[in-house]
Formats: sequence, C-alpha cells, structure tokens
Amino acid sequence: MSASVALRLPSIDGLLRHPACLLLAERYGREALLASLRLLLDELRSSVLNGQLSAVEISPEVLAGRVGERLAQQQRSQIRRVFNLTGTVLHTNLGRALLPEEAIEAVQMAARYPLNLEFDLASGKRGDRDDLIEGLIRELTGAEAVTVVNNNAAAVLLTLNSLGARKEGIISRGELIEIGGAFRIPDIMARAGVRLHEVGTTNRTHARDYEAAISPRSGLIMRVHASNYSIEGFTARVATAELAELAHRHGLPLLEDLGSGSLLDLTRWGLPAEPTVRQALLDGADIVTFSGDKLLGGPQAGLIVGSKALIAKIKKNPLKRALRVDKLTLAALEAVLGLYRDPDRLAERLPSLRLLTRAQSDIFAQASRLQPAMADALGEVWSVAAVHSLGMIGSGSQPVARLPSAALCLRPQVSRRLRGRHLLNLEAALRALPIPVLGRIDDDALWLDLRQLDDEPAWLAQLPQLQVAQ
Ligand SMILES: *Cc1c(COP(=O)(O)O)cnc(C)c1O
Repeated sequence: MSASVALRLPSIDGLLRHPACLLLAERYGREALLASLRLLLDELRSSVLNGQLSAVEISPEVLAGRVGERLAQQQRSQIRRVFNLTGTVLHTNLGRALLPEEAIEAVQMAARYPLNLEFDLASGKRGDRDDLIEGLIRELTGAEAVTVVNNNAAAVLLTLNSLGARKEGIISRGELIEIGGAFRIPDIMARAGVRLHEVGTTNRTHARDYEAAISPRSGLIMRVHASNYSIEGFTARVATAELAELAHRHGLPLLEDLGSGSLLDLTRWGLPAEPTVRQALLDGADIVTFSGDKLLGGPQAGLIVGSKALIAKIKKNPLKRALRVDKLTLAALEAVLGLYRDPDRLAERLPSLRLLTRAQSDIFAQASRLQPAMADALGEVWSVAAVHSLGMIGSGSQPVARLPSAALCLRPQVSRRLRGRHLLNLEAALRALPIPVLGRIDDDALWLDLRQLDDEPAWLAQLPQLQVAQ
C-alpha cells in the first residue's frame, strides 16, 4: 500500500443531493438517474479498491458528468434519420421509399383520430379495409379487386397458400430466385403448402416444358420477375400472354409476382422499362403481386390484385388476418395512389420518382457547389473531387441498369498500405455525425452520391463536427 489514504466512492445519497445530479433528476427522472448512478458505482468499485482511479475521477462532478452522458445517450431515439448517399435510391436497409407530403398528412390524420377503417359510412354497416383503396386500384391497374398485406413477401405467401395448397405449383427453373433476407421462392412455396414443380432450365424454358408438367395434381402456374439478377445470352422465356393462355386452357390460374411492379411506364421519365401491373393483367395474369415501397414509392405493403373470384378466395384465408396492414399504412397508400391519377405531376410530387429522375447535370452542379466545404472539413490528407458516378434504383428493380449521377469522391492521399484504414476511419466518422452520412467505398475512395441530398443546409451545418481518426 502507498502512503496515500484509500479513496472511497461517494455515497448514492450524497450524489443525489449534488446540484448537477438534481438537474439530471429533473431532466430524466429520479428513477432513471438512480439506476444509472448505481450501475456506474458498481462498475467503478473494484478499480477504486485497486487504487486505479484518482480522486478527481471519482469526484461528484465527474461522476455526474458521466451519468449525464449515459442518460442522454439512452434517451436518444434508436430510430435515426440518416443521409442516404450510397447511390442506391430505394435502399432496403435504409427504409426504401420516402413518402410524399400528402401521405405524411394522411398518416397523421389516421394516427390522431378514429376513422372508418372497417366501417361503411354509406350504409352504417361493418366495412372491409381493402375497400378503401379498391376504387383507386381498379382505376390505376384495371384489376377487378385488391387485397393488401404487410409486404410483397406476405402477398406471395398468402396467394400461394390460398390458391395452391396441397397441389403443385409450376414454375420455371430460371425464376427460382432468392430476394435477400432468406426469401427464396422454393422455401416460400414449401411454407405455403405448395409442392414445387420446376420446369425448363436456368436459361431457357419453353411453353412445352410447362405443358408437359400439367397434371391433375397441378394447382397453379407461377411466374416471378427476376428482380435482382439478369440472365443474358442464350435465353428463352414464355411471354405472359402465351403462358396465361396455356394455364387457362388447363383451368389453372397464372400468378405473376412482379416484385417492384410499376403502375406506369417509367420510360416516359427516361427510366429503364419495368413491367407494369396493368400490362401483366392485360396479358392474362389472374393474380399479380407487388410491393408498396419499391417503385410505387409508398409505404411498406404487399398488393395482391386480380380477378374478383380469386381475390375473394384469398381474402377468406385465415392467414390474411395475420398478414393484413394497419391503418397508418392504408392511409399512406391511399394518398400515394391518389397522386398516380395525375401522372403529369407525379415526378414533382412523389419523392422516389423525383429523386430517380433528377438530372445528372443538376446533381453535378450540387457536387461542385459542396466540394469546397467538404475539402475544408477533411483537410490536407484527402483529395475531394466532384465527379460523375453511377447509382442504381435498388430494391431489386432493374439490377443491371445504372442511373447516371454525380458524387463527391474522397481519396486519402496516403501510401497504398494506409488507404484502407483511412477510408474505414472516414466512413466511421461520417456515421458518427448527428445525422449519420452513409456513402460507399469503391476503388480506393469513399463516394458520396448526391442524388438524394435534399437537405443541403442540414448536411453542411454538421460538417465542421467531422472528426476523422488518423
Ligand atoms: C422485393 C421482392 C419481393 C419481396 O417484396 P417485399 O415487399 O420486400 O416483401 C418478392 N418478390 C420479388 C420478385 C421482389 O422483387
């Protein structure tokens, strides 16, 4: 033992009476403060006994400061806004589509007041929540009926189970896809109780392959839009119209999982062509499923549209009750669908379409404008350049198509050996900002694709706080 007197931690009671802690109690509540203080003192006890801490380190001021930081941290919401500068617009990990103002207002209304979710105001009788958007869906897709569930994965599961349980589902080997997050068509079929009957080959499937597979055990034919990969070269695929004709000749329904499922032809905005829901139905698909938060640009949802008789059958499935959407989703969805009635103004009003159609020249001008501030924040070690770049739509839409965009390209001016560490440190520093900034590392540089940088002032305001470890 040294000659110094052994230090002792302050008592809880003493700490609670300290002015700094009184302020914390007022701010976060006495219970939370007490719990946090106890935890901290427990953590420090053995270090104090071993003489590893100084008197200052266990002074009431310092302890109160540490507890204050922890309480502030705990109070901060776990759900955080971020800047998505990855170049992928509909980013599944970052929440996909952003809602238009009209939908945000509708969600607020639905959150705040009682509403006619399942109540028919005309007759005063019990209603059906799907009816709230059925008129719009009929108008926008030509479908006879609709039912909405939690997401497109749920839509596929529910449809398969409702129409094909204990029977065979016929599908091309080229369409047995995995979407990500363990959503694989063969597994979903199995869970839906449908026996997979795969036909054709990975690259080529013909009408005669489907025809040969049809038997009394068949329940349906399924087609899946290969949304996250593309097969090129020596390929063959049966057109939907021909497949529908074949299915109907044998009394089978044709399901088409479109994935993104656009409501309008995107080429009118210069975007890559994506099959539309209306066309799939016109071609003869009996049921079409698609997502609400991919190209549609709305809330997470799965839409099942098609013939009245089949939709009625799907709605009778008890699983529908387990997979149905809530009022907030329906309110947002109705508002988004409403915008589609005026396609001429859609690109101004629907954020996802507005972002997807932003001109490269506009984005490049923004990159040039922001370059000096970024260079300033990073200092000597980094070169910062406004450059042309390539982004993508995301969420499995048009996997091989690239969106001409522009970015800030940040390159560490250090030896090759040190580059990787510098890039990871910068990435971490950007993530540690009050509004985390997410870019992408590629080709020994960190790229901030600016297609989605709407809130320039907020982005600029936090740049001085950037602290990159060396
Ligand atoms: C994205 C996708 C799904 C899953 O849709 P979620 O809305 O993410 O559940 C299913 N099928 C295809 C073809 C897809 O592209």
